[in-house]
Amino acid sequence: MSYVDEVIETIIEQNPGEAEFHQALREVMESIRVVVEENEEEYKKNALLERLANPERQIKFRVPWVDDNGQVQVNTGYRVQFNSAIGPYKGGLRFHPSVNIGIIKFLGFEQIFKNSLTGLPIGGGKGGSNFDPKGKSDREVMAFCQSFMTELYRHIGADTDVPAGDIGVGAREVGFLFGQYKRLSNLYEGVLTGKGLTFGGSLTRTEATGYGLLYFTNAMLKANDIDIAGKTIAVSGAGNVAIYAIEKAQQLGGKPVTCSDSTGWIYDSEGIDVELLKEIKEVKRERLTAYAKARESAEYHEGKGVWTVKCDIALPCATQNELQLEDAKSLVENGVLAVAEGANMPTTIEATEYLQENDVLFAPGKASNAGGVATSALEMAQNSQRLSWTFEEVDAKLQNIMENIFANAAAAAEEYGLDKNYVAGANIAGFKKVVEAMNAQGIV
Ligand code: NDP
Repeated sequence: MSYVDEVIETIIEQNPGEAEFHQALREVMESIRVVVEENEEEYKKNALLERLANPERQIKFRVPWVDDNGQVQVNTGYRVQFNSAIGPYKGGLRFHPSVNIGIIKFLGFEQIFKNSLTGLPIGGGKGGSNFDPKGKSDREVMAFCQSFMTELYRHIGADTDVPAGDIGVGAREVGFLFGQYKRLSNLYEGVLTGKGLTFGGSLTRTEATGYGLLYFTNAMLKANDIDIAGKTIAVSGAGNVAIYAIEKAQQLGGKPVTCSDSTGWIYDSEGIDVELLKEIKEVKRERLTAYAKARESAEYHEGKGVWTVKCDIALPCATQNELQLEDAKSLVENGVLAVAEGANMPTTIEATEYLQENDVLFAPGKASNAGGVATSALEMAQNSQRLSWTFEEVDAKLQNIMENIFANAAAAAEEYGLDKNYVAGANIAGFKKVVEAMNAQGIV
């Protein structure tokens, strides 16, 4: 059995019931097989892949808090500090009822390679809780965040581990978390990113993942002689990533016609009204039915269905495994040219393979959604300098980073004779840098 297969088997056996982590592990290991085979003896002797696939540290804790009825609630908190070879752990916090250790480990593992691809000095980590902020009062969200941070603060720090937002963790939650960290540690430091602009946040961070997705997608399309202007775009999700992907797609001349949340989806023949969407999702925290009510050209459909819409470009921006084989088939049948992931691992392995086999350009999330964490690293740089850069300055850096990520992923794919397989290219480019740093630092 090859070293790669041996490691996949052992890690899966040692970490049962972590389906999403197994999926991410397989995807990365399959892609880097070509590099591992070139160095098999050395890597095996140093147990390099075993060290890569085992988090440096995994923290699980109790989060008790009191709801508005005086009832005590108990949630579980997690922080997985996966790999610090190239910098302090960096990765978001997810608050969603589906959160478990397998999901946090998949996200943390992916984060290692994503952060490496940005070219910035950040290691990989991820955390979160099975707490659901939806339907909770501001006071309840604050009580939860304060309790969560009361344990987490001892494990993080501006040069140790710098969390940020993810699903269910936006500006409000980051504000509460930062306030409690400052109170407990007596330190005003850049320990979280995605902060408000009045207390150390970076301009462009809110927009960064969505904008970055479009900068990457545009670079990929251009390299394949496709103009984004005039293209119909299907987007899933209606959160931070989706909203700013829609906004930038429109600025580049594309026409996004869909968005979705966990209960239904919108088709808007006139193109999504992004200001209306922001008002509904960011200000009023309402469901998408409110969008359909406010706009004549919009249809609301219950359940899943975004990928049945005829489009040139598809941007999955909601959650993992939301684009499955039957969705990929429907996209191909409708003549899709490109799929670019805004969310983390939104496309199943079977769906990805089907799209690639049918010559659809495919941008993997760990490359195409890296704009969020890249801008978080720029927020860390500004906090360290005690300076704030302008929107234009950060946006220009973001664009440059995303174009470089595309160029590096494409170059790695070409170097290994993998043509336009940007999934493999991104994994290989991200892996090589981390491995070099791990080797230089000895057996730790
Ligand atoms: P938000 O919480 O802002 O939005 C998530 C959106 O996806 C919401 O519309 C939500 O609908 C929908 N969604 C969440 N879970 C499900 C589900 N199980 N089924 C269907 N729809 C669902 O999160 P973000 O926009 O920040 O994150 C979206 C994705 O992008 C995630 O995969 C995240 O890891 C990834 N990502 C985010 C980055 C960031 O900077 N924010 C950076 C890089 C990646 P509803 O409101 O109904 O739950």
